[in-house]
Amino acid sequence: MSDSEQTPVILFSDLGLSEPVLKAVNQAGYETPSPIQAQSIPPLLAGRDLLGQAQTGTGKTAAFSLPLLSRIDVKAKTPQMLVLAPTRELAIQVAEAIQSYAKYMKGLHVLPIYGGQSVGIQLRQLQRNPQVIVGTPGRILDHIRRRTLKLGDLKSLVLDEADEMLRMGFIDDVETILKETPESRQVALFSATMPGPIHRVATRYLKDPVEIRIKSKTSTIETINQRYWQVTGMHKLEALTRILEVEEFDAMIIFVRTKNATTELAEKLEARGYSSSAINGDMNQAAREKAINQTKKGKIDILIATDVAARGLDIERISHVINYDIPYDTESYVHRIGRTGRAGRKGEAILFVQPREKRMLFAIEKATRQSIAKMQLPSTEDIADRRVMQFTQQLSETIESQDLSFFQEVISNYQESHDADPLEVAAALTYLVQKQRPLKPVVHVRPARSERGDNSGKDRERGSRRDRSDRGERPSRNERSPRRGNQSAPHRSEEGMQTYRVEVGRNHGVEVKNIVGAIANEAGIDSKDIGRISLQDDYSTIDLPQGMPKDLFQQLRKVWVVNKQLEISLVNNNEASSDGDAPRRKSKRSGKPRNRARDQARRPSQNRN
Ligand code: AMP
Repeated sequence: MSDSEQTPVILFSDLGLSEPVLKAVNQAGYETPSPIQAQSIPPLLAGRDLLGQAQTGTGKTAAFSLPLLSRIDVKAKTPQMLVLAPTRELAIQVAEAIQSYAKYMKGLHVLPIYGGQSVGIQLRQLQRNPQVIVGTPGRILDHIRRRTLKLGDLKSLVLDEADEMLRMGFIDDVETILKETPESRQVALFSATMPGPIHRVATRYLKDPVEIRIKSKTSTIETINQRYWQVTGMHKLEALTRILEVEEFDAMIIFVRTKNATTELAEKLEARGYSSSAINGDMNQAAREKAINQTKKGKIDILIATDVAARGLDIERISHVINYDIPYDTESYVHRIGRTGRAGRKGEAILFVQPREKRMLFAIEKATRQSIAKMQLPSTEDIADRRVMQFTQQLSETIESQDLSFFQEVISNYQESHDADPLEVAAALTYLVQKQRPLKPVVHVRPARSERGDNSGKDRERGSRRDRSDRGERPSRNERSPRRGNQSAPHRSEEGMQTYRVEVGRNHGVEVKNIVGAIANEAGIDSKDIGRISLQDDYSTIDLPQGMPKDLFQQLRKVWVVNKQLEISLVNNNEASSDGDAPRRKSKRSGKPRNRARDQARRPSQNRN
């Protein structure tokens, strides 16, 4: 038995959360607090500062939201809780999660504030007096400067994914915001890693924090073959169905996160013809034991379980473990997959990984000291091959084991009276038999290109970057764009890109990462789609995908980076490349008159306010 099998189960109701928050958590179907939740909720409820080293997928959003929401005074109509997140996607996601945990807190408003959204809309929403604000640092700072966001009554501040904020160049903004909040506020800082600058922020702004580290224990699992599927292009259920079709399995456990998900998935698999049962903490011991015994006897082939329900489960037949939802920590991964490979047998473990859960995948690899192979989903051809194989096997077994004399007579009579070809008769019968479950299945879902394995020239060209981003790795700063930072190279836009000029440069203390961070958030452009950036003394140039909408352009002009607005303007690339220098607004050296086309392109910025 592993440690986690012996640890007593902590319940959400043991932690002292407020009644409406507890009600929402129960409704979400969470069975037990994840490790980071069990450790963070009590100190945060007690008003302590917290330094948490944990990544996405550990349940950290609920770890800070549940206790901090429990401390909010709904009657007070001022911002009391502020969460800073590195990207707008994360800000939206966190705001949605908080909204769901606060659904029984009448009168509570949660407002996401992020770059790329109209400031006007945000101003109106701010007037509704939200008590909880979740935002990206740039835009939050913008509202603080405009005095449209006042943090005088703030009770708690959360820095979520602090290392990402650092990577995106937001750490100065974060510090400025920290300084704008009252001394008395409680701070919770979460970061997957603790690089120096984050540690410094923690030392400077956190008061005697409780330190929590969701550690990765190292363990090795030799007898289990581990694979992962990157969730892309189709739903998990569809992917699971394909896997079930093709994998040779005896019995299987599928792990999901919530009790509701166990029953939902069991019903769906039953409907697809698999004998399945849920096991979760809501079922009484007798019902759970029944499901387990039936699995042992082969009456049930698939158990859909939560972590708690599957503790210590020992069924020799389990040949496969599928982590349909990624676990919160590496220990539970090890525990989960240990349900297979019992009694010296070999086992198979398959992990579904959403793009944002990549870090957990790496943590698991590190903790188990094994790399997990990326798997391709079975194609429809694979499924067809498998069905044909199963069919022909059944055919042989039937010929061998059944008395077929009556059926031979029927067919023989038919053949004589219709003068039919025996092969054609057999083919017609095969057709009738497979109608419900076609030997050649119809494709319902078109997998994403990477899943189809088709490698067009374009894909190959981008291959290395794609592979890397598939593994969720961020290229190193220098690698990100070989030309970024090449400060005086001739400047022709890359294909599909346009070159823009921004009015911040080296003399303003700007670094490439600051520009990437601001533009990625404000324009909602994935940082890997941002092309080369060339820093000059008083300005910089940047390549962005062609066809930027006008309103986005207007918005980007006003974005602040290192205390200066970008005042972005479009550059005429031909001029830039023909004179062999980075584009300039006025050519100081040549004294060339301003190019007409460039002026045209720059027109929007002439209404500068
Ligand atoms: P996070 O690490 O905050 O991104 O959370 C990852 C996922 O786990 C989210 O989809 C949550 O809804 C889910 N989750 C968080 N806490 C629990 C829990 N105690 N039980 C089950 N699921 C949870």
